[in-house]
Amino acid sequence: MTVAEETFQPSAPVCWCCGGKFEDRDLVRLGAHPEVGVCIGCAKYTAYS
Ligand SMILES: [Zn+2]
Repeated sequence: MTVAEETFQPSAPVCWCCGGKFEDRDLVRLGAHPEVGVCIGCAKYTAYS
């Protein structure tokens, strides 16, 4: 899977998990993938799954 960087919009952070739009501060960045962010809800979901 390749990532098209031109489609990544830092000004409009989107949860990589549920696709919802969030403020950047409300997204949790994955350590190995700083370009990927998930919302708090999904972060908790993944943490407990
Ligand atoms: Zn989410």
